[in-house]
Amino acid sequence: MSGNHIQVQNVNKVFQSADRNVIALQDINLSIPQGQFVCLLGPSGCGKSTLLNAIAGFSLPTSGSITTDSKVVTAPGPDRGMVFQEYALFPWMTVEKNIAFGLEIKGVAANEIATRVDALLHKLGLYDFRQRFPKDLSGGMRQRVAIARVLALDSPILLMDEPFGALDALTRRNLQDELLRIWSELGKTVIFVTHSIEEALYLADRIVVMTYRPGTVKRDMLVTLPRLRDPASADFNTLKRELGLLVMEEQQRHHDQEMIAAAVD
Ligand code: ADP
Ligand code: MG
Repeated sequence: MSGNHIQVQNVNKVFQSADRNVIALQDINLSIPQGQFVCLLGPSGCGKSTLLNAIAGFSLPTSGSITTDSKVVTAPGPDRGMVFQEYALFPWMTVEKNIAFGLEIKGVAANEIATRVDALLHKLGLYDFRQRFPKDLSGGMRQRVAIARVLALDSPILLMDEPFGALDALTRRNLQDELLRIWSELGKTVIFVTHSIEEALYLADRIVVMTYRPGTVKRDMLVTLPRLRDPASADFNTLKRELGLLVMEEQQRHHDQEMIAAAVD
């Protein structure tokens, strides 16, 4: 086995509060080879972020184990970079400072930082915006900066939690295309959370559909459609319908559980 392989084994996650326990993840097993683009798909509340945060090391499983490159995840680490939906940029730093920040913290030499930041500014179409502050950028541009900032650290694994969820359709498609280009160029493993079936089908080598509470793997599907994919094609739409039924069942389960909870209260 070469490169950085992610193993999720028998992972459970229970959130305990005074009046109830929420089983957010139940018996999750996934083996993700280096370079695979995986989408975690499912309606809100099915544990996608919980699983991603566990892989990131922000919040550890209640039981089971997660390893990257055969090492148990116990905390965030330099092999994993995270991009959130809400651009977690420093508002008081320019675009280039935001991208450079992680490298400065690591003590990378100034000339090396300048070279890497320049390359990323070009790669993500940010060069003309390098002196701007986040407040003076569109949502799409901010998310480019967030991606550049994670790429600067060159971790083999990119974790993305609905990174394009707040963007309009056109900007979103542009960023999806950029991400695919970067992914095929750099060979990184990507675990990308989305509740959009179309987004998952457009991006992923593999789609892991999750169930609503407890979060389990409902379907683990390889997507072999050739890239760049055409969302108008017949094959794309056949898969879209198939996934649509799976996700709809979980939305229905969510709805039913809420009705039951409301009736008991
Ligand atoms: P998703 O990202 O798929 O929308 P989450 O992973 O955020 O789902 O949440 C899964 C379930 O775990 C939900 O029922 C949510 O309410 C619950 N949950 C998530 N985080 C916490 C927490 N910190 N404390 C208690 N419950 C939580
Ligand atoms: Mg989430």
